Amino acid sequence: MAASAAPSPRFARLGGKLVCVAKNYAAHALEMGGSAARPAAPSVFLKPHSAVIRSGDGRAVVRPRAVRELHHEVELGVVVGRAVPRGSLRAFDWLGAVGGYVLALDMTARDHQAAAKAAGAPWTLGKCWDSFAPLSARVLAPRAVFDPHALELSLSVDGAERQRASTGGMLFRVPELLAFAASVMSLERGDVLLTGTPEGVGPVRGGSVMRAALRDLANGGALLDEMEFRVEDEPEEAAAPPSAARA
Ligand code: MG
Repeated sequence: MAASAAPSPRFARLGGKLVCVAKNYAAHALEMGGSAARPAAPSVFLKPHSAVIRSGDGRAVVRPRAVRELHHEVELGVVVGRAVPRGSLRAFDWLGAVGGYVLALDMTARDHQAAAKAAGAPWTLGKCWDSFAPLSARVLAPRAVFDPHALELSLSVDGAERQRASTGGMLFRVPELLAFAASVMSLERGDVLLTGTPEGVGPVRGGSVMRAALRDLANGGALLDEMEFRVEDEPEEAAAPPSAARA
């Protein structure tokens, strides 16, 4: 099965940077206490490359001791296939920038994100920790995906379905997202655009097993890819500050 396939050598450094979009599905925006209306522009944030883990590499999602509320967000990832200098991409020419697609989880420290929002501070601590960007092992070729807005994303936790929705619900679609991101920053080969999560986000804890799938709604719901990640709690000693560790 694709989930155990080796990572594509074409994108050995998948996720040089991860350009992420918040509240890109109306029902998720509502569950987060926001508005279902499409804003004037996408709300964009970044995750670092150090957050990336790939399915099949044996690594788990690690809940840091400092994170009390860890949430899953299943998303479609768009892999940038060629360098896109800032300002050079028009939405009508988006397909030439796409190197492929991946299944992605935008793991979120909801407690840190909520605290940052309340303080009017950046969300970085809600999104940036190691292992907070699990990606599928395989990069689906652009030709394998007839329409990135006719895919079904789903996610279960310990066998119970939490999220299932069509990517047709995106408020900003892939061409607009790529063009917007490239209007702000140059995109590099291997960068990944995370296109936002549909509704149904919720908590996981140490021992939880998350299973995500991507299906092609333009082809009878055929399975395109799937992946599984286990959640582990960070050991106490790993979280101790250096001074405490020496004591
Ligand atoms: Mg997200």
